[in-house]
Amino acid sequence: MVRAVDVPGVVTLIYTGTRHALFIRLDICLDAKLKFNRNTACANCFREKQMCICEAVKSFSNKVRVLILQHPQEQFKVLNSARLTRLALKNSDLRVGLSWPNFKKVCGDNSAPSEWGILYLKNELHLSSNNNDNKPAKRTGKDSAISVTGKNGRVVEDLPQIKGIVVIDGSWKQAKAMWWRNPWFLRLNRISLNPSHPSLRKQMKKTGLSTIEAAALALGELGEDEGICQSMIKQYEELVVKPAAEFKQ
Ligand SMILES: [Zn+2]
Repeated sequence: MVRAVDVPGVVTLIYTGTRHALFIRLDICLDAKLKFNRNTACANCFREKQMCICEAVKSFSNKVRVLILQHPQEQFKVLNSARLTRLALKNSDLRVGLSWPNFKKVCGDNSAPSEWGILYLKNELHLSSNNNDNKPAKRTGKDSAISVTGKNGRVVEDLPQIKGIVVIDGSWKQAKAMWWRNPWFLRLNRISLNPSHPSLRKQMKKTGLSTIEAAALALGELGEDEGICQSMIKQYEELVVKPAAEFKQ
């Protein structure tokens, strides 16, 4: 069951019957390219100092590691949620760039690609030569919001084997370019998101989610504490979405 509650002029809150209960839908027309001034922004959260979120963020000890790979052009965008994700999750890291030489350089020597997944844009190109890629991935469970496929194209049923996720922070076009620049992405399990809502922001395609929402959705399905995932969404609303609306004014 989905219930929508309108908050005039700001956001529409959508409640679903799933455990990923709260989604935020922007119904205001914010400029997706609106940026903070990098010369005056807080050096930690990259937001204007009067809008700094560093003291307000609640951080959690998450089990599944989160690695955010951020396109350089995303860093100071008002609606960007990558820094908040990094601050909210103690077991996370954020790297800014376009390409990295290999898996171990970013995920560590003690990690194995088979234990990591990368959030996958469903409308992406077919990114490997594997013939199975043209087939839609099966859901891993009746109510699963994600589908996980291994590099061999087979569905991964054993989700607890996923110890970490890579989240690309960028527009669709930027993310696509980063896929091509980093062939080691293909060594990771591919995590397709199947959100139960059509879209969160008007600027995004139907299957698009902000970085923090995508991470929260994936983490929840991978067994992360429900309270952490809900807090991520709530903090996104309180610390990014609402202030962004005011910043525009
Ligand atoms: Zn700050």
